[in-house]
Amino acid sequence: MEKLFEKSINDLSKLYEFSKEELKVLDDADKAADELSESEFEHYIKREVNPDHAKVLSKYNVLGVPISEKYGGRGCNPLISVLVKERLGQLGMGLSSFVNVQMFLGEMMLERWGTEEQKNKYLADAVHGKKIIAYGLTEPEAGSDPSSMQTTYEKKGSKYVLNGSKYLITNGSIADIIIIFARAKDNPKEHSAFIVDTKSPGFSISMRMEEKIGIFTSDTAMPELENVEVGEDAVFGGIGMGMHVAYSGLMNGRTGVASASVGVIDACLNAVVERAQERVQHGKEIGKHQLIQNHIAEIRQNLEMARWPVYFAAIRKADYEKDPTNKDLIEELDFRISLAKKIASRLAFESADRAVQVFGGFGYSILSPAGRLFCDSRVARIYEGTDEIQTLKIAEGVLGKDFAAFK
Ligand SMILES: Cc1cc2nc3c(=O)[nH]c(=O)nc-3n(C[C@H](O)[C@H](O)[C@H](O)COP(=O)(O)OP(=O)(O)OC[C@H]3O[C@@H](n4cnc5c(N)ncnc54)[C@H](O)[C@@H]3O)c2cc1C
Repeated sequence: MEKLFEKSINDLSKLYEFSKEELKVLDDADKAADELSESEFEHYIKREVNPDHAKVLSKYNVLGVPISEKYGGRGCNPLISVLVKERLGQLGMGLSSFVNVQMFLGEMMLERWGTEEQKNKYLADAVHGKKIIAYGLTEPEAGSDPSSMQTTYEKKGSKYVLNGSKYLITNGSIADIIIIFARAKDNPKEHSAFIVDTKSPGFSISMRMEEKIGIFTSDTAMPELENVEVGEDAVFGGIGMGMHVAYSGLMNGRTGVASASVGVIDACLNAVVERAQERVQHGKEIGKHQLIQNHIAEIRQNLEMARWPVYFAAIRKADYEKDPTNKDLIEELDFRISLAKKIASRLAFESADRAVQVFGGFGYSILSPAGRLFCDSRVARIYEGTDEIQTLKIAEGVLGKDFAAFK
């Protein structure tokens, strides 16, 4: 088992008693990460999407960790899910982006908002890696303010007709289904979500984002909808419920990004420790130079500062799952998740920057783990809500609803 992952589990086991089944899930995640690590590196260097993600993760049954056993999942609580994501995050944000959208957004939203028919149709296949899911909220002119979306739906008989463009969509061009958020054509304030089969006539991908500055192994694309027709059975979460569905998904997504960011810090620490013990300059291992020790100590501090808010948010999420009508708990959770996401993603980027410094010139190459983690970690401060949006939510949590930036 990866040294630091084992340490996270050992540290947590002083506060939380892991069951045998939970330890098996964590071990499976570890094995899946080990098996993926070589292909993740090879595809990263070639700057191409890694087609092995779903296959390997489902082989170890880690694509459905939080999903109930009824649909083929492992039925684990949020703490186990974040630990799994931490381990996968050690391979960088490309793999993590795939898992975030497939499991934390797609599957968890299906289980939370889907009708029995939708769950039966998609959930077990998603858990087994046979159906890939994308989450289509962002548009070219609607990012941090998704309620300003321009994609529309119009009821025509028993069908809904969707028109518009989505932007920066993870898994966009590899997905079998995509959760599309749209507003009513005749009412910009009514938002709804639909499950769209990507083989539907009128659905296309106009562009794949290949000029990214990192996460090359993850697919990012721009889907277009031109008179795409869906039935009433495609309505997801109810007509008019679109923003509730979207925000509940973002809470899961943010938790996933935060835990992957902890994994990035683990990976930075692993990489710098190894490098500092091997690389010799001025007649001794660079780890014996005190300024390099400072970088290593700072990364270790970052790990400590990043992981506990993430674990705490996960523990409160477990409390919320037992008491989902508790409004105070959902508000606290929303606040804690924003805190965890902002802290962990910023510290991941700072740690990767320090790792590049420890690696020196080799760190400036994506052939080095430090270089890859540096390129990858930046996105965590943008997607699933930027640093600024998390800051506003944290301030609202401190000052109270009267000071909310968005009402
Ligand atoms: C690689 C990648 C994958 C992604 N995957 C998905 C996906 O699968 N599905 C999906 O729906 N979206 C996805 N996104 C989109 C992502 O969620 C958005 O990029 C993000 O929400 C920011 O929106 P924006 O890019 O339009 O920036 P903008 O909203 O234009 O923001 C620009 C700047 O203004 C700041 N800003 C905006 N509003 C305020 C405010 N009120 N106060 C202070 N500052 C503000 C922002 O913080 C930012 O610094 C992805 C993005 C990337 C880069």
